[in-house]
Amino acid sequence: RRAPRIAVVGAGSWGTTVAAILSRSATTTIWARSSDVVNDIEKNRRNSRYTGDAVLPDELHATSSLEEAVSDADTIVMGVPSHGFSSILEQAAPYARPWVPVVSLVKGLEQETDRRMTEIVADVLPGHPAGVLAGPNIAKEILDGYAAAATLAMPDVNTAAQLADLFRTSRFRVYSTTDVIGVELCGPLKNVFAIAAGMGDGAGAGHNTKAMVITRAVREMTLLGEALGGEPVTFYGLAGTGDLIVTCTSPLSRNRRVGEALGRGQTISQAMAGMKQVAEGVRSASVVMRLADRAGVELPIAREVDAVVNHGSTARDAYRGLLKQAPGHEVRG
Ligand code: 13P
Repeated sequence: RRAPRIAVVGAGSWGTTVAAILSRSATTTIWARSSDVVNDIEKNRRNSRYTGDAVLPDELHATSSLEEAVSDADTIVMGVPSHGFSSILEQAAPYARPWVPVVSLVKGLEQETDRRMTEIVADVLPGHPAGVLAGPNIAKEILDGYAAAATLAMPDVNTAAQLADLFRTSRFRVYSTTDVIGVELCGPLKNVFAIAAGMGDGAGAGHNTKAMVITRAVREMTLLGEALGGEPVTFYGLAGTGDLIVTCTSPLSRNRRVGEALGRGQTISQAMAGMKQVAEGVRSASVVMRLADRAGVELPIAREVDAVVNHGSTARDAYRGLLKQAPGHEVRG
């Protein structure tokens, strides 16, 4: 049997890292909008803009043509930010072979429509199985060779297991599940909570506070996730609690760093200025609050983050707010 062929659409730090992983077991083509990034990968085996000095596998092919990347792919992996997802998928759609699965790497929600990325796939490429890969996966650590793990969700158990095989390496453990909704909600939610954790860091809060934020965030994540159709066990796993822990604690996390700047007293535009990458939690905060309000669940930490990011509140106010217990959050801490 010929090697599977995979298109990775998007060459940010995580798209590039996943493409490097996949190129060990599959013929992998990565699409980048920028011809500088394509040339850097093809000529220098690096994506200096997003993954620094990390050396990428010789087998990895890069192109700025969506047609070239997608037209003979057996699987399409989407690694573009949530705000570009639908337009880039629409541009790729005419070249997609019938029924090929689409795996999202995105940890965000579409701000204008509140859609999850697999809901966008269902609208743009109806009939294509759509799923998601998520876990505690700081790209740099994986490129540096440290072991990590993630969860891959697809609607069908066999497709989930087959795709998990494709992503798995000796240093990257991949679990499979059919809980697409749950795994897909974990990323945007943990990003919002990581902003809260970062605000504590910037404001000089202690480890007790950090532990409180992380633990109550697991509860909030599970409350909303379950209300929207996810399985509780997903939120206790790698995509949920695992990714929440790494994003709330890693010095490299973009979302935690935005929070840290807010905690030091910067405004949201100051905090985001100079970031050449996307902190998805900033966009997800308002979507998460709309989903929570519609589902009738109270998320005190997410609400404080939304107030700071979107409604001019300060990190200091947010932490004051967190010390008041919200209705429904008095029992079983
Ligand atoms: P940031 O987007 O905050 O850098 O988080 C990275 C991540 O999702 C690690 O799993």
